[in-house]
Amino acid sequence: MKALKERILKDGKCLDGGILKVDNFINHQMDPILMKSMAVEFVRRFASTDINKILTIEASGIAPAILVGYLLELPVVFAKKKVPSTMDNMLSTKVFSFTKNRTYDVCVSKDYLRPGDKVLFIDDFLANGNAAKGILDLVEQAGAELVGMGFLIEKGFQAGGNELRKMGIHVESLAIIDSLDNNKITLR
Ligand code: 5GP
Repeated sequence: MKALKERILKDGKCLDGGILKVDNFINHQMDPILMKSMAVEFVRRFASTDINKILTIEASGIAPAILVGYLLELPVVFAKKKVPSTMDNMLSTKVFSFTKNRTYDVCVSKDYLRPGDKVLFIDDFLANGNAAKGILDLVEQAGAELVGMGFLIEKGFQAGGNELRKMGIHVESLAIIDSLDNNKITLR
């Protein structure tokens, strides 16, 4: 998506370890106009998909997910990264975060992820695909169906995208980064 790619080149910053910092418009300060355009693009790309629920993971997936849910007039559920004391009746899985170098629990209530749900997962980044695979585990535990995954930014030099596509998952990424070598952002 042209507007996102231009913004990444303008405001994205390379950090050590192959991390792209986009906190000027996605991860801290957010650009709602661009966010809305990205949601419109997801709606276009998943137009032929039967969806009844948008699922994301806190925190950075929530903004794009809620705009997709708004446009499609569908409920948006975010998986929580801490198990709340008030939450019984829940499904949980473990996800390793390479940006934080630790494993954390991700959970969602069985009230909001139900057998038969047709789920579109939306998140900010796809890197090694650990968060995405955790979500797939939750969807399977719930007896729901994962009908697609949409990412704002895919890091094509990490394995997640290939792995998810090989599993037969419909993956759409609005911008794919081929390399962050030598502090230079190379887009596909
Ligand atoms: P994965 O689970 O696919 O390895 O990583 C995805 C998650 O890690 C995303 O939800 C995002 O929060 C975080 N992440 C991975 N790579 C980057 C990156 O280059 N920049 C930022 N800001 N977050 C990233």
